[in-house]
Amino acid sequence: MIFDVVTIFPDFFSSILEYGVLQRARAGGQAKFRLHDLRDFTDDRHRTVDDRPFGGGPGMVFKPEPLFRAVEALKPEPGGADSPVVLLSPQGRLLTQSVAEEFARKERVVLLCGRYEGVDERVAQHLATEELSIGDYVLTGGELAAAVVMEAVTRLLPGVLGNEESREQDSFAGAGSVAAGSASGGAGGILDCPHYTRPAEFRGWKVPEVLLSGDHEEIRRWRRRRALEKTWRRRPDLLASLPLGQEDGKLLEEIRQAALELAGRRD
Ligand code: SAM
Repeated sequence: MIFDVVTIFPDFFSSILEYGVLQRARAGGQAKFRLHDLRDFTDDRHRTVDDRPFGGGPGMVFKPEPLFRAVEALKPEPGGADSPVVLLSPQGRLLTQSVAEEFARKERVVLLCGRYEGVDERVAQHLATEELSIGDYVLTGGELAAAVVMEAVTRLLPGVLGNEESREQDSFAGAGSVAAGSASGGAGGILDCPHYTRPAEFRGWKVPEVLLSGDHEEIRRWRRRRALEKTWRRRPDLLASLPLGQEDGKLLEEIRQAALELAGRRD
């Protein structure tokens, strides 16, 4: 997969590309990260990428011409018409695991990083295929957002993670595609279960007994129950869209009953 990133700060990415999954995907050939300096697509001596907003007001706005030229220079590359041209923007569709899964099926994604007050609206209307936000807050530039998108997508590419199973158990994994309570124990769009490691007892806090039992079926059931319980408490919205299997339905009923009993005892 190819990521084409258009930015005024290509060096911003040099360290993040040297670590973790991004580095591994580069080394393993699963992903290429190509950085394009927006200023290379300007046509004046000062390599100007921004200008004052029409109508007045504070700050500067990215001019359309350099962004159009940068993307048009990439056109003949793989992915063809199917490669999304994504304008990072707090006003865009929210990045979720299912959006990351959607991008991971593409051959190429182009990421346009804005700065200042943002980008001339004609870029959003006539160049980008979509605007994408990494959350309801405002960053100073699109570079961090592009890095988040690249990280979330790259770890989904086959062969990038050492252990593919760990990905299947992550929170939100297979949102909308993995059947709830699947045999693999995949999280099926819910939150991950709690994890513990040695020591079995730390400052008096013990690891749940079942995890030390060696009973794989009991451990699987416990993990699924705890994952459902966390989701029920923290993100009930995720459960609303989950196709509940028989086992999940039963576990959720147990969770609700236990919560009711606890509340009853407190009263
Ligand atoms: N004036 C714009 C607004 O209120 O919508 C915000 C501009 S922001 C200071 C500058 C750039 O940072 C944006 O063009 C975008 O590329 C990036 N950015 C900021 N917040 C973002 C977010 N939550 N998700 C993705 N990109 C973001």
